[in-house]
Order: sequence, then structure tokens, then C-alpha cells
Amino acid sequence: MIVKTHDAIHTPLGSGEPIVIVGSGVVGLYLAKLLSEQGHHVVVVEVGNTKLALIEKSFTSVGRNHNGIHNGRSQSLGGTSNLWGGQLVEFKPSDIDGGDGSFHQGWPISYEEVARHYKTTFQRLGIPEKFQQDEHVWKSVAGKVPAIGGDIQIFLTRWLSVPKLAVLYKNAIRYSSNLQILVNHQVCGFCGADGIITGVHVQTPQGKQEVIAAATVVVVAGAIETNRLLLAAAVDKSWECPWRNNRMLGRYFQDHLAGKVGIIHPINRKSLNFLFGTIYSQGMKFQPKIRLSDARLESTQLPKTLGAIQFESSISENLNYLKQFLKAAIYSRKINNIKDLLKHAAACARHLPRLAMAYLRYHRIFSPNHSTVMLMIQTEQVPLADSKITIDPNKVDSAGVPYAVLDWRIDGCELQSIREFLLAVRDTLLSSGIGRLEIDPRILAEDPSFLASLRDANHAAGGCIMGRTPKDGVVDGDLKVFGTKNLFVAGTAVFPSSSDANVAFTAMALATRLAERLATYSDLQTTCCV
Ligand SMILES: Cc1cc2nc3c(=O)[nH]c(=O)nc-3n(C[C@H](O)[C@H](O)[C@H](O)COP(=O)(O)OP(=O)(O)OC[C@H]3O[C@@H](n4cnc5c(N)ncnc54)[C@H](O)[C@@H]3O)c2cc1C
Repeated sequence: MIVKTHDAIHTPLGSGEPIVIVGSGVVGLYLAKLLSEQGHHVVVVEVGNTKLALIEKSFTSVGRNHNGIHNGRSQSLGGTSNLWGGQLVEFKPSDIDGGDGSFHQGWPISYEEVARHYKTTFQRLGIPEKFQQDEHVWKSVAGKVPAIGGDIQIFLTRWLSVPKLAVLYKNAIRYSSNLQILVNHQVCGFCGADGIITGVHVQTPQGKQEVIAAATVVVVAGAIETNRLLLAAAVDKSWECPWRNNRMLGRYFQDHLAGKVGIIHPINRKSLNFLFGTIYSQGMKFQPKIRLSDARLESTQLPKTLGAIQFESSISENLNYLKQFLKAAIYSRKINNIKDLLKHAAACARHLPRLAMAYLRYHRIFSPNHSTVMLMIQTEQVPLADSKITIDPNKVDSAGVPYAVLDWRIDGCELQSIREFLLAVRDTLLSSGIGRLEIDPRILAEDPSFLASLRDANHAAGGCIMGRTPKDGVVDGDLKVFGTKNLFVAGTAVFPSSSDANVAFTAMALATRLAERLATYSDLQTTCCV
């Protein structure tokens, strides 16, 4: 249920203080629904409203340019799920376990422990078990699993059919009696003593400060805002902040490096389309992507890179326009420029028979023979202590919370990873007779200036990383903030390293695990009401 004032929050019969979740984004809303279905009394506090809005200016960026901090976040019910594609990608074992000689030493929890929760998370998001297996998807649409050989492997990513979580969960939001979402209220601090958090301070839309009592608090406000909130609380002299002296807070900020790196000149266009065209089956979308083979990865010990192939043509442009239009119509956003709509629809209508044939027979989007085939990459960065978020005490927002200052830094060795990856892709595509990859010459020349042309991938992570002790992390393996008994952080902020895979699915799997772990903190539990 959506509530607009603190007074409207009710306590279900038999319940104690609620679990308060700060932020109703991808991970926050997912966790809130899960906990409420387990019978907990859950109150989500969301600074945004029910209408789509970008983030209010409350930050500066002083390091490497980071676009995502400006326009890669949404401050509204559903958070950034209002902007994302909903692509779900699993991490690999070495992303979490690290390894001998690797640039990261591993997370305090094992890959196995995270992977155990991938399955439940897929199920909770409505991805049937059979579609969790690449082999099954390939066999159902093509009758066989493609083998390309060489040093690269093809894997599939899965896309949510309804990416906006506020839409996906609309029934729970409307009807659940023990899930309440207080919108338009900004959490700006915490109260409590001796490591026990008893509530959060919120700023109302009228500018008043109120306290919402809590049995347990989970902060899941997106990586940047989570760090800002914890950093602001640490310098607030009005209370004894348990993490005040944690030197790790704000450190190891990470994102992926993304961009176009080459053009593929097809030798066998049919194979290229078959291997890399986006797959549609039974209402679900799957995208084939490429990585180095496990054996080749093990021998490099570099950050990882993954690639995706993009077929660019006037038809893909027309289809994209129509897709955006349909989304706007479905989610009742403002629709303008009907003239453009008709132009794009007419262009698609011309290709309708071929579009229908590709879709119905091959489960693919038709891509014409003249389309340009681009290779895009997404590269993991080496986590660096000096890549960090701090706060600026001289600049505060309307609730008096200091601005975040982002100093995003990268190591530079990521260029080697990109080069290694592209050479392997080039050799494999050529030896299998599929295409010739023309690589950006700056990469071949190992020209470091190439890295400046890559952008972030809207995959902000780190700052409140998991560690074994407060000396190497802000939260422990249970995501509990060191020094506290009942304050947890969820979301990508806790990642000590962030793979080359899109980050949200692993953050959701950690939220599934957190819901399980919260049950073991018996002294903190709210009374279940169902
Ligand atoms: C265009 C785009 C495409 C993307 N595509 C993908 C993809 O396909 N796959 C993928 O894995 N990732 C993708 N991402 C990244 C993904 O969206 C984020 O990793 C994910 O949203 C993080 O989830 P979150 O819940 O931590 O934060 P968010 O979804 O950003 O939600 C945070 C919420 O907290 C609220 N909030 C913040 N501060 C406060 C406060 N003080 N008090 C109360 N509320 C607060 C915000 O208003 C917001 O609603 C994409 C991002 C973008 C921008």
C-alpha cells in the first residue's frame, strides 16, 4: 500500500516495529516484497514520488567523468527500474571467489553461497526453470547449442518481460496489508545507541523532520545515495555513530567501462545472425553475449570483458522508436510527435513480412543484410581504494544532507583485458569463417587514451563493501554494518569487486540471501503477522 504521511502507516495486528527499507528501487522493492511475503511488517521509505523523475542534484563529480551519476538514476517508486532494461546476468565463480594471483582476493562469502540464491531469485522474478538453462533455450529455438570454438564462449542473458518493478509488483503494492511504501520522504539519518538502530529520521515534503521507528533497517538507496547517507550519518555529532571510524566507507567505488570497440565484416551473415541475434521465445527475451573461455580467462588474471553484438540499420532504429512509443503508451507517460510515430510505423510496415518471418520461424528480430555489425564491450574495473565517494560539508540539499562527491578512478590495465578479449574474438570469428573483426587501432596500439573514450555502464557499485573485519569492509558477510546489531546494506554498494556482468541480478540474489539471514537474527525480528 502506498502511504503519503508518516501518520498513515499502520501496524498490522500482532506486529512489532517494522523492518524499514530505505529506497524502493530494483533491489529495495524486490526485498520488500519478499520480506512481506514471509510475513514481516515492512515499511519502505522512498524519497521520490509515484511519477518518474531523475535524481535531484545533490552531488559533484571530480574524477573520471561518470554519466550515470547525472542521468543513470531515477528517484521515484521503482527507482532505476524505471530506466533499466531488466537484463539479468549471473556472476562467474572467479568473480566472487577470486583466485591465486588474481587482482582481488575474493568476497567474504563464497560463489556457491551466492549461486544458491540465483535460482530462487530467477523463480521469484518469474523466469521458469527451463529458461534458466542456456542449453534449453538454444534447443527450443534452434534445435541445437551453437559451438564456435576457439578461446571464446557464447552465453545468454535473460531480460525481464516487465522491467519496471512498480508495475511488476503492482498487486503487492496495492493489496499487501503488511507492505507499506511511504513516498516523498527522504531518509536523512538514523537514531539509536549502543549499536542498535531504533529508527530513521525522515524529511517530509513540507520540510519537517520526523522519526520512523524500526526493529531492523536495510539501506538500499542505490550505491551513491547509500554511501552519501552513511557518510552523512558518520559526521553527525548529535549521535554516537557506530561506523564513524570506519576508514573503508566510501572506498572502492566501481563501474564497468563500456563502449563500441570494433566492426564485424560478415563472411557468413547467416551464422552471425544465428549466433548473435536477440532471441524471443514464449514472451521472453534472451541476448547472446561473448566471453573468453574459462581456460583463457584463468591464464590472464586480468579484469574480465564481455562483448555483445549490435546489428545497426534503419529498421532497428524504427523498431526502437516504436518500442519506446509503446512503452510510453503502456506506462502512460507523455506521448508527443505523432508525425514521427507514423513515419517509423510506415517504415516497419514495409518490412512486416520479413519481420514476421524472422520472429515466428527463427524467434529473432529481422536484421537486413546491409546492417552494420558493431561489437560492444563491458569491462570490469580493478577495484581501487582511491576510487571513492566522500561528502562535501559545504554543500547540502534541502534536507541538510551533504552532497556526495564522486572521484571515480580506474587502474588502466583494463585496456589489456579489452585487447586480449578482442584478439581472441577476432581469431575465432575468422577461423570459424563467420566474419572479420576490425578493431579500433588505438586498442591494438595499447594507446591509454582509448580508455577515455569509454563511458560508465550505469553499474555503480562499492563504497560499503563486504569485508571480514571493519579494517577491510563496511559490512560483514551478512551485509550487517560493522559495529551495529540491526543495520544492513543491500544493493551493489556492498560489492568488493563487480565482474563484467550487469550488477543488479547478483544484488537481488544477495537480497534473497539477506531475507533468509534476517530470520537468524532472532532478537531483532519483528513479529510476523501472517
Ligand atoms: C539505463 C539503465 C539501464 C540499466 N540496465 C541494467 C540491466 O539491464 N541490468 C542490470 O543488472 N542493471 C542495469 N542497470 C543498473 C541497475 O538499474 C542498478 O544497478 C539498480 O537499479 C540498482 O538497484 P538499487 O535498488 O540499489 O538502486 P535504485 O534502483 O537506483 O533505487 C534506489 C532508490 O532509493 C531511493 N532513495 C535514494 N536515497 C534515498 C533516501 N535518502 N531516502 C529514501 N529513498 C532514497 C531512490 O529514489 C530510488 O528509488 C541499468 C541502469 C540504467 C540507468
